Amino acid sequence: MNKLKVAIALGSTCSGCDVAILDLNEKILNLVEVADIVYWPTAMDFKIKDLEAFKSGDIDVGIYHGTVRTSTHEHTAHLLRERSKAVLSFGACAYFGGIPGLCNLSTKNEVFRTVYQDTASTVNPDFVTPQTEVKVGKFDLTLPELKDEGKALRDVIDVDYYLPGCPPTVMLREKLIPILKLVQGGELPPKGTVIASDKTLCDECEMKKENKSISKIVRTHEMIPTPGICLLEQGLICMGPATRGGCGTPCIKALVPCRGCMGPTAEVKDQGAKMISAIASILGVSEEKDLSAEDVAKLIDGIKDPVGTFYRFTLPVALINKKVGVK
Ligand code: SF4
Ligand code: SF4
Ligand code: SF4
Repeated sequence: MNKLKVAIALGSTCSGCDVAILDLNEKILNLVEVADIVYWPTAMDFKIKDLEAFKSGDIDVGIYHGTVRTSTHEHTAHLLRERSKAVLSFGACAYFGGIPGLCNLSTKNEVFRTVYQDTASTVNPDFVTPQTEVKVGKFDLTLPELKDEGKALRDVIDVDYYLPGCPPTVMLREKLIPILKLVQGGELPPKGTVIASDKTLCDECEMKKENKSISKIVRTHEMIPTPGICLLEQGLICMGPATRGGCGTPCIKALVPCRGCMGPTAEVKDQGAKMISAIASILGVSEEKDLSAEDVAKLIDGIKDPVGTFYRFTLPVALINKKVGVK
């Protein structure tokens, strides 16, 4: 059987997704049995011109990880789409905008002001910011432009498949090679397939749940959780009720609450809103007639950094997804 041609391209990324591929250990041999990696700039000396050199549809599977944040990321994403028969959105950053997508809490101008003007070591009275067209000697260069917001890949190009997680290590180990084998045999999964569970993380979690209310929210450094008991019912914000399963709950097994890196299930539009509603019900806020405004404020005060807690991975695809101006 012919080997698949696989390209691995990137946007704004910590490269943990690349490390997850390298982390396949001996399973990387199974990967090279089914696929030739024809483009992977993180691991080898590929340039964008190498991707440009492929013809339309030359690549069997284009894998993209990272948030789309600059003109270069956009160009790479469009190129990958055009050159690939199928595109896989790989990891939380590509799927939902991810942690780099928290950049949407600041406008581009605020970012430039902080970096190029307000830092103590900067002297820039004319507020010179990065230019996209520059002349260096006899060369005219076009440099990447920082876009106004970080975007999920699916908001930039048509995506065929999704593999969530940050990094998507478990999903990758268990699912990537079987999926590539299916593609190799011509059996393509239905477009839009999310390579993970359709159930919530709570459904696969083995912690004991008693459906009891909690009276306050605690942070991870304020308590040592009791093993075997639902972390949310111990007062820790665990994103399990609003998160897709499939990762095998590695964080919870280590008594660390879930941060939601698999994103929401198909039925949920907004992971943060879903989690806020789950918290409201476990805190008894839904029966707010029994709580004073002061009680509610005290409970809510226990949630530090609400955006970073509820939208850590999904802000760019949330219903309210970016800051648009400055007061
Ligand atoms: S999904 Fe996680 S591991 Fe992958 S690039 Fe984004 S931050 Fe890094
Ligand atoms: S809230 Fe967290 S700890 Fe509790 S059952 Fe769900 S995933 Fe498990
Ligand atoms: S438990 Fe939560 S944060 Fe940890 S890997 Fe699973 S989805 Fe991600």
